[in-house]
Amino acid sequence: MPGSKYRLILFDLDNTLFDFDAAEELALEQSLRVNGLADLKVPGGLGRYREVNQRLWAALERGELTQEQVLLGRWEQYLEQEGLDYAAIDRAYLRGLAEHKQLLEGAEAVLRELARRGYILSIVTNGVGWIQRENMARSGIADLIAALVISDEVGAAKPDARIFEAAMAQSGWQEKASTLMVGDSLSSDIAGGKAFGLDTCYFNPKGKAHHAAPNFEIRALEELLDLL
Ligand SMILES: [Mg+2]
Repeated sequence: MPGSKYRLILFDLDNTLFDFDAAEELALEQSLRVNGLADLKVPGGLGRYREVNQRLWAALERGELTQEQVLLGRWEQYLEQEGLDYAAIDRAYLRGLAEHKQLLEGAEAVLRELARRGYILSIVTNGVGWIQRENMARSGIADLIAALVISDEVGAAKPDARIFEAAMAQSGWQEKASTLMVGDSLSSDIAGGKAFGLDTCYFNPKGKAHHAAPNFEIRALEELLDLL
């Protein structure tokens, strides 16, 4: 049996187990290139793209936008040019994300050790179904994961309780008191996990200041091996 009060560990995927930021940068360049827009100078560049994209995903977390509105709206708001095929730009971008997203350094070793200690490990992620599944399929950790639960497929995104319910049901574990949610987002992972009645662990690699009160806070995934 595991050496802590927890039995099920729910992990966020992007920027918790996988390096989303690096893949996002490559995918953005790739999409503009294959759409013949490599020379397009967009004010603010990658930084402004991220700001727009994060703002729209935050609106999705609040239930104000659908995923499709986020995926197309981000290009509309970022590129702001007449006559561009936003759907084609997004398709190429998503393809790039699927190709480039890699596990963060050390993530696999931590998951292998937690599995060896007897924890049930699952993933709860807000994202596009086929991309998250493709990332998992070639990550080398698929055999360690009990359930991969994706907002796109569940029809509800973190912090909505329904996605946490789905994750527990698909993991075959129903006891909230022995379930821990680990993630890098205060609004979706920590607030959502807490509102659902779970203990939470904030993955904060850059040491950002905040006023949330997770049960644990870590700067490196390896710290989980001391907590669990
Ligand atoms: Mg994340």
